[in-house]
Amino acid sequence: MRPEILFPLFADVTTLSGVGPRNAKLIERVAGAHLVDLCWHLPVGVIDRRLAPKIADAPIGEIATITVTVDKHEKPPSRRSPYRVICSDETGFLTLAFFHARDDYLKRMLPEGQIRVISGRVEEYQGGRQITHPDYMVPEAQRSSVQIVEPVYPLTAGLSTKVVTKAVRGALVQAPELDEWLDPSFKQQKDWPDWSHALRTAHSPEGMADLEPMASARQRLAYDELLANQLVLGLVRQRQRRGKGRSIKGTGLLLRRLQELLPYTLTGAQDTSIAEILADMAAPNRMMRLLQGDVGSGKTVVALSAMLAAVEEGAQAAFLAPTEILARQHFDTIEPLAEGLGITVRLLTGRDKGKPRDALLAELADGTVDILVGTHALFQQDVAYHDLAIAVIDEQHRFGVHQRLMLSAKSDGPVDVLVMTATPIPRTLALTAYGDMDVSRLTEKPPGRQPIETRAMPNSRLGDVVQGLERAVGQGAQVYWVCPLVEESDVLDVAAAEDRFDALKQQFGDRVGLVHGRMKAADKDAVMEQFVAGELSILVATTVIEVGVDVPNASIMVIEHAERFGLAQLHQLRGRVGRGAERSSCLLLYGQPLGETAQQRLKVIRDSEDGFFIAEEDLRLRGAGELLGTKQSGLPDFRLANIEVHGDLLAAARDDAGLVLSKDPKLETDRGQALRVLLYLFERDAAMRYLESG
Ligand code: ADP
Ligand code: MG
Repeated sequence: MRPEILFPLFADVTTLSGVGPRNAKLIERVAGAHLVDLCWHLPVGVIDRRLAPKIADAPIGEIATITVTVDKHEKPPSRRSPYRVICSDETGFLTLAFFHARDDYLKRMLPEGQIRVISGRVEEYQGGRQITHPDYMVPEAQRSSVQIVEPVYPLTAGLSTKVVTKAVRGALVQAPELDEWLDPSFKQQKDWPDWSHALRTAHSPEGMADLEPMASARQRLAYDELLANQLVLGLVRQRQRRGKGRSIKGTGLLLRRLQELLPYTLTGAQDTSIAEILADMAAPNRMMRLLQGDVGSGKTVVALSAMLAAVEEGAQAAFLAPTEILARQHFDTIEPLAEGLGITVRLLTGRDKGKPRDALLAELADGTVDILVGTHALFQQDVAYHDLAIAVIDEQHRFGVHQRLMLSAKSDGPVDVLVMTATPIPRTLALTAYGDMDVSRLTEKPPGRQPIETRAMPNSRLGDVVQGLERAVGQGAQVYWVCPLVEESDVLDVAAAEDRFDALKQQFGDRVGLVHGRMKAADKDAVMEQFVAGELSILVATTVIEVGVDVPNASIMVIEHAERFGLAQLHQLRGRVGRGAERSSCLLLYGQPLGETAQQRLKVIRDSEDGFFIAEEDLRLRGAGELLGTKQSGLPDFRLANIEVHGDLLAAARDDAGLVLSKDPKLETDRGQALRVLLYLFERDAAMRYLESG
């Protein structure tokens, strides 16, 4: 079923009267390209025009709607002074001022001797009252369309309130009454309005209270959005698991031998995670599991254990890393163990070409290769596995659900998927981003880790820092120097990093390297390799190093303008050091003045190394609206819902979606049909993918 009823809402904003190509571009920038996007473009303020005083009582500085008689037009004496129109009522005079005015237009709007209703902000002018460029000048008959409370919408340069307001009104006209998709008792308990009523109310605030996220209309819309989100994740999950999966029980032989080979015993958290994964693999359904754990928490050996279970059954495993250098690192970790286990591991990256690659592919196809480690080269068209049973995906937190799905669809058989991420995500957020997956968490670090000494100091101490580095580098230390994100522009980022690179080069010469996001992958890898090999002492970087490179000898992390990073990012960056025997330190250089939230963030990172704790604090502190870092995190951007304030609603939406899909997996009941419409409203692409292809 296609919800034709919604089609008008999916029209382009250009179809609205008053919206030409120029305005359409601007609207697209702030809201989106379709009418439905305008529906979600909620007001952020109100202008109250209900105050209708006599001229003498009109308060200076306030918005007022005043009824006057137009007395006379005064042409400006010079081009720089305004055109003035003098008006009055029985209490006094009101001047209307217009810069760069068109006389004929003003003469038409404000004929002398006529009564007009004027609305705008009242100013003082030469002891009298004046309104410059009134927002409204209408005949008395139209007073009721002016003396109102107007919503104020988020704008962008060049876009006027009038245009947006009119466009939103135009969009709302197309928003139909829809069958209720909420659970009736839940709706009643919350005392929420119907969807279309909620939408119209949200766009007609009467005061600031109506703008609060907890206002009834806004809550309902936020819940709708969360429910759609959870429903999509539920559908994805269902799709993943549908069809016969494969039960991989393993023999336990390789796993036991692995534990003998390891120079350490597994932590409790590692044991638990391995047990959870093996249980998933043994079950007949396809595994979709997320393994969350801080940098250094020992995810690799957990992933290896999962892969060994497949190998024990004669099947194959693929281990996908986001970059070549990470793929090589995983390979180097796994290979000696594989040798001890008597199994075959190979590495495949984009660099492999020609005969060696053909030979490797042949070994893969005939089953000689047990585990294949690599970059996305692993899933190229011509890469055929003998019997792929599990794919491990490392550090793919930048992947959305749909990418994950496509990736696992690359192999025709039912492949178990294990995603590893070093970004500990707060529980509520994990629900939204990874709601299609089961989660294992490594909450405990391997014993014997040295704590990282973390200090914060103002950027003005940069000179001291460089001096300190000179000493440390002289003794063989390796240093990461991270330059900040500048306004989300990678051009500026790069400029900042290049400047720092040049400055440090003066001091340290060829021992300094630079990597940033605009370099070609191969060049980046080459510099990283030099750093890994110890040929470089200082690596200046933008946040590209965030994604897990392991250089155990690196013991110092300098983060410039640390106040501009999100907590999760700082934590992630700091995790790059403290991996070797050396005592490590992290220096957070901050610009002044330091805002209160930034101060708290730095304090959290100084006081804790627990990624899960830091993640929860991150979410809490974001209340101050400093959202730096979320764009990179791959978490969904909600339009109406705010996870901090609507956390309870998210939990309810999750339960609700789960319940619905368990009873009505194809959304065929009446409520199911209504929910389909909801999905189209918020997640049109996903709805088309999951609802229309059966
Ligand atoms: P992650 O991928 O989670 O960042 P790794 O798997 O790379 O962490 O492990 C980090 C380091 O800790 C590796 O050198 C690994 O050998 C070591 N390690 C893993 N598990 C343990 C353990 N239980 N006890 C001691 N060391 C461990
Ligand atoms: Mg790792």
